[in-house]
Amino acid sequence: MYVVCNQHLEEALEEFVQVYEQPPDLYELGHVTFTEWMAPKTCDFCDHIPKYLVV
Ligand SMILES: [Zn+2]
Repeated sequence: MYVVCNQHLEEALEEFVQVYEQPPDLYELGHVTFTEWMAPKTCDFCDHIPKYLVV
C-alpha cells in the first residue's frame, strides 16, 4: 500500500505493479472515509501532503 502526492503517483503505481504483479486500486484521499486506518500526513516518497491511496 502506498500513500502518495500528485508527483509520486506514477512512481507508486509502477512500484505496486512490480511488487504485487497486479494493477492497484486507486483512491483519492478526502473522498474516502477511513475508519480503522488514519491516513498518513506525508507522501511515501517525499514530505508533501498525500493525495492518493494506492492499494
Ligand atoms: Zn511525493
